[in-house]
Amino acid sequence: MPLASSHRPLVHPRANRETVLEGMHVAYLFQRVRRRSIGFVVGPDGLEVRAPKWVTIKEVELGLQERGEWVLRKWAEMQERQKNIRQIEWREGASLDYLGAPIHLHLSPENGRSELNDQRELLLALPHNAEPSQIRDAVQAWLMREAKVLFESRLNFYAPLMGVQWRRLSLSNAGSRWGSARVDGAIRLNWRLIHLKPDAIDYVVVHELAHLHEMNHSPAFWKVVASILPDHMARRKELQKENLANWA
Ligand SMILES: [Zn+2]
Repeated sequence: MPLASSHRPLVHPRANRETVLEGMHVAYLFQRVRRRSIGFVVGPDGLEVRAPKWVTIKEVELGLQERGEWVLRKWAEMQERQKNIRQIEWREGASLDYLGAPIHLHLSPENGRSELNDQRELLLALPHNAEPSQIRDAVQAWLMREAKVLFESRLNFYAPLMGVQWRRLSLSNAGSRWGSARVDGAIRLNWRLIHLKPDAIDYVVVHELAHLHEMNHSPAFWKVVASILPDHMARRKELQKENLANWA
């Protein structure tokens, strides 16, 4: 896949070594660490390489050359994701997505508790001079409450259709992870899914419930998912465009 030239150069802010990968100049952070093999990570800052003391620089360089294409592809993907960053402003009138459409924040001291009205205004039970951190806490508390109620109802809707029983729902906020399931029926879902369209949320719910049949991503697992959501591939693609960690 040819790489768009609009991407930032792959130069780590703390780079201490340089190389050329697929004809592209790359400056990366190299660290000696106690580990068994060489580790290559492409993060928001760029390429980081960690190697045990006994691995020579020449071997590191060989490993890099072998992974040149992978490194550049990961970097291109990283840039794409960062384009989608949506930093929420914690102030009166600011907007954020709720179930895939914007809602607006409105400080409403007369309100006893936070609630969403028909105009898609989230009325926050806070004084007009509330600090951004108070606004953030109130909005997140409301989003998490909504998430819990919605996720439970979707789990209860799909579980009988799929012939499974879930036992406990907990909310997580783990970087890029949307959810997880345990053999004993415990489900974890990322509460930030509440920002996304119901279609995307349902996909994650069905995905995790399908794990109660199959604790893996085998063809049998995907068959269970497809039996409930025939369009699961499209939903998954949509979801991959989202970076939950960006909803800070
Ligand atoms: Zn899975």
